Amino acid sequence: MDLASLTITNARSAIQERKTTATALAEAHYAKIEKDDPQIGAFLTLSKERALAKADEIDRLAAEGEELPPLAGVPIGIKDVMVMRGVRTTAGSKILGNYIPPYDCTAVARMETAGAVVLGKLNCDEFAMGSSTENSAWRPVRNPHDLSRVPGGSSGGSAAAVAADMAVVTLGSDTGGSIRQPASFCGVVGLMPTYGRVSRYGLIAFASSLDHIGPLTKTVKDTAIVLRTIAGRDPMDSTSAEVPVPDYVAELEKPVRGLKLGVAKEYFGDGLDAEVRSAVEAAIQNLANLGCEIVPVSLPHTKYAIPTYYIVATAEASSNLARYDGVRYGHRARDGRTLSEMYRRSRDQGFGAEVKRRIMLGTYALSAGYYDAYYLKAQKVRTLLAQDFAVAFQKVDAIVTPTSPAAAFKLGEKVDDPLAMYLADIYTVTADLAGIPGISVPCGKTKEKLPIGLQILGKHFDEATILRVATAHEQAA
Ligand code: GLN
Repeated sequence: MDLASLTITNARSAIQERKTTATALAEAHYAKIEKDDPQIGAFLTLSKERALAKADEIDRLAAEGEELPPLAGVPIGIKDVMVMRGVRTTAGSKILGNYIPPYDCTAVARMETAGAVVLGKLNCDEFAMGSSTENSAWRPVRNPHDLSRVPGGSSGGSAAAVAADMAVVTLGSDTGGSIRQPASFCGVVGLMPTYGRVSRYGLIAFASSLDHIGPLTKTVKDTAIVLRTIAGRDPMDSTSAEVPVPDYVAELEKPVRGLKLGVAKEYFGDGLDAEVRSAVEAAIQNLANLGCEIVPVSLPHTKYAIPTYYIVATAEASSNLARYDGVRYGHRARDGRTLSEMYRRSRDQGFGAEVKRRIMLGTYALSAGYYDAYYLKAQKVRTLLAQDFAVAFQKVDAIVTPTSPAAAFKLGEKVDDPLAMYLADIYTVTADLAGIPGISVPCGKTKEKLPIGLQILGKHFDEATILRVATAHEQAA
């Protein structure tokens, strides 16, 4: 069985036509995980019992000649920030090292209802804070294209699992780029939907106004299928939007001729690697050759995006992470003599260095004397960043940029320099702050054979257009 060429469509039809079974597909993926994952480190927990029960259910349907659901028998993996009933869910943190959730994340439940087989939980930066997956409390993930390099983060396990053919599809989360940047580093497709498009129910919170769930896949079509499956209003998440969900797969058929694509100079300035620049420029030229009109646009507040993001995100994180007190969830220190000592020690022992750094930054930004100077200011700049996009989208249908200023870096290269790590998020955090959707699609490789990503940003709730541009790019490549 050639796992590398397996997509949702061909996996499902092979099962429907009885050329294989969902059980055989799951077992082939587990064999691949057993063989290759000791080097890569993408999976934290395998949910074999649940996977094989689901596969068996699909195989019975197929044997009875029933029409199979859209994701029937497709082996998938879930970033360990989405809860699954009865399956250990750690968010990459020791503080949740023994946490067994009592309920299912809506996005995961929707995937399973559509027939997907969940192989297990994927490694990530602790509480999704990071850009390299080196902040996992358990172990780092390695990039399948070059084991000395990072897979990106924080959804590094989700990207590496797809790139290494250990899952057909994975779900990740994106707060400041954590789906698109690892997709770009690992040479896969990664989509962050519009804020509110996909329910966050059951997603362990990092920064609630910025958190999104989305797919990582091998093809744009698979991303369209997954988005159609997980999108739409969920009564369990009041921020999930009551907006109709289009048939994204049908939308892919529409031609791109005549679409206006914006190119912002702010995304092609200093710090952009020369090889990444030329690959992205070549992709833009290809889209022009397909009949897209390339329009210069300006996003003048881009230079404030990193400081704005790292204030808003840390402020919200400091508040969300207050719930880990050693009482209600996870790890409890045994050696505290008083209640407050127990709180302090539980948090000290349970959280890693980056999480502590962010809790301190966020608490500072929210504290009485500094709230106006930092948090309030950041919220105002966030509005300006969103307005930049609103103005640009009056002229264009989508905006094309590099996903990341450079290809995958080496493990250890940036761990001692958090600021350098933060600065590399420059092209991705803007979309999270504005609430608009973005996709990263593979666009060539560097001389060292490292994948490069093209990012396509769209209007609120217009995932259909960016998927259409992404497909045209993929087919032209
Ligand atoms: N790299 C960014 C951060 O560290 C983004 C993380 C994310 O999107 N979850 O916060």
